Amino acid sequence: MKVRKYMTDKEAKRYICETGHKMYRDKYVIATAGNISVRVGENAFWVTPTQTNKGTLTEDMLVKIDQEGNVISGRDLPSSEVGMHLSVYKENPEINAVCHAHPVYATSLSIAGLSIEKPILAEMIMQLNAVPLVPYYAYDSEELGKAIANEAKVHNGALLANHGVITWGYDIFEAYQKLEAIEHYAHIFITTDSIIKKSNEIEAKEVDVLRKAKNAIDEKRKSFNFKEVVKRTKEQEVNEKVEEMEDVYRGFVNKFYARGSAKK
Ligand SMILES: [Zn+2]
Repeated sequence: MKVRKYMTDKEAKRYICETGHKMYRDKYVIATAGNISVRVGENAFWVTPTQTNKGTLTEDMLVKIDQEGNVISGRDLPSSEVGMHLSVYKENPEINAVCHAHPVYATSLSIAGLSIEKPILAEMIMQLNAVPLVPYYAYDSEELGKAIANEAKVHNGALLANHGVITWGYDIFEAYQKLEAIEHYAHIFITTDSIIKKSNEIEAKEVDVLRKAKNAIDEKRKSFNFKEVVKRTKEQEVNEKVEEMEDVYRGFVNKFYARGSAKK
């Protein structure tokens, strides 16, 4: 099976919209907050537009930009926070998707100036190891982009001080899963640390075993993931062909009737 590195334009747009709807339903964003991007080529990215509710995103709203942020296609302006995404891509060629949101628990930790480091959950170590806190910088500043890009080299996501959360992945599914995982563990961390006020840590030698397992999974995922995308695409290709044919047919019917009414 041919393994391809990037999603097509069509796939990227579809999954950005689906992810945006999910992000809004999961209450990780409200109003016009949050943004999502997907890399579709070495120098081409689909991103969510500025000032748009993620719950009502449609494909025609999305914007295609290059690494410098220049608009390649789309009627709207890209998100004003797109610089964070582009910095991550620039420094990390294996990353193909970035998600940014303001989920309540993880954002609360970022406001308290806390990162998620305590080894209290086996699954957390396997999925994220630790979630660092990036210090506060203006949302569109170069410093913020650089600080996040550095974290992307070693982590799956980061808390942004007094702002929210950013995650990335080999594809959009992985990037969103990391966002879900961070919010879930932030909730558990706050519950054990502040409400129950007691949390037992996993022994250091067991933590080592889990970290090694995480590294092995990450390595495998790099190649496994794209095959999965290709597989998913096979059935989609058939559906898309049917849609295309329906479009052609509809166009033909419309033209036929337009001609008929012009004659009258
Ligand atoms: Zn934000």
